[in-house]
Amino acid sequence: MPRIHIDATECIGCGACEELCPGVFRIRDDAVSELLVEDVTDLPCAQEAIDTCPVECLHWE
Ligand code: SF4
Repeated sequence: MPRIHIDATECIGCGACEELCPGVFRIRDDAVSELLVEDVTDLPCAQEAIDTCPVECLHWE
């Protein structure tokens, strides 16, 4: 299953990934996105989040 890498140093905590794909991403209390799952099964919404991230800090591994 595909995995996603989050570049935590680039994330600005905008919340778009969580809004688009709440089963995969969650914004931590310190305003950095984290993954809720290791293996991503909902590929369309994860791809939408990757494409939407304003600082392009989400990438498939
Ligand atoms: S969309 Fe990108 S910048 Fe915004 S919270 Fe998610 S990972 Fe961070």
